[in-house]
Amino acid sequence: MPALDSLFEALKFDHLAAPCDALLEQAAKKDLGYRELLAEALSCEWQGRQHKGAQVRLAQARLPWLKTLEPFDFSFQPSIDRKGVRELSALGFVGRAENVVLLGPPGVGKTHLAIGLAVKAAEVGHRVLLLTLEQLMGKLKRASQENRLERQLQQLTYPKVLILDEIGYLPLSRQDASLLFRLVARRYEKASLIVTSNKSFVDWGDIFSDAVLATAILERLLHPSTTINVKGESYRLKSKRKAGMLSAPATEEDGKAAAG
Ligand code: ADP
Ligand code: MG
Repeated sequence: MPALDSLFEALKFDHLAAPCDALLEQAAKKDLGYRELLAEALSCEWQGRQHKGAQVRLAQARLPWLKTLEPFDFSFQPSIDRKGVRELSALGFVGRAENVVLLGPPGVGKTHLAIGLAVKAAEVGHRVLLLTLEQLMGKLKRASQENRLERQLQQLTYPKVLILDEIGYLPLSRQDASLLFRLVARRYEKASLIVTSNKSFVDWGDIFSDAVLATAILERLLHPSTTINVKGESYRLKSKRKAGMLSAPATEEDGKAAAG
């Protein structure tokens, strides 16, 4: 019979080799039966694989920073339906390929919530990707110029969760908006989008230079979807205000300062 270590290696049981002796020792102490010991050993390997898979998926997700939902301070942002976010974090929307739209002024935690949901999705095995609208348009335009738009659109359907961050800061030409429409249509009912925007839906016609295209994009984005409309103050400015660097209450100026 081959030695245990070479079996681990041949089977690629990378996460069991190191803790194996400790596991056996514990099993003897706890007087575990063979089946229980086997289950403990395999679950040790399984958990290791899950953890590593999540790390790889998160590394590929291009998140600008890593934050989970747990430290999010809901008491600071009472307009957010805490129960709704908890429900989203159970990821039913990913399974149903539904979208999430996060609206609100700069600094209120839209990207944080989007990243928190993406981290949860990566942990349970979904591919996730974050692109700002600017990054996405760069990709699509390059692909279009190089005659590989189809392939690029196809690639962008692979992540089960695609965060499109910061719709609204960058106005799009009609041509660009139609590229965005193709992406949204391609993912429609196949994979989820999480979209953040500082503009309310009525202003989307202006962002996309075309009311008909804006409506077509919105229709596919919103049905079916969950919209969270954050009506609050910038969290970034909270700490500055606390430190006495700002005195006025939240106004449009805050938005500009936080966006800059
Ligand atoms: P937005 O995308 O709406 O402009 P962000 O998600 O980038 O805002 O939030 C700005 C910063 O403030 C981030 O570091 C984020 O983690 C933090 N933040 C925002 N809202 C909260 C909150 N309610 N609780 C904890 N941190 C928050
Ligand atoms: Mg943001």
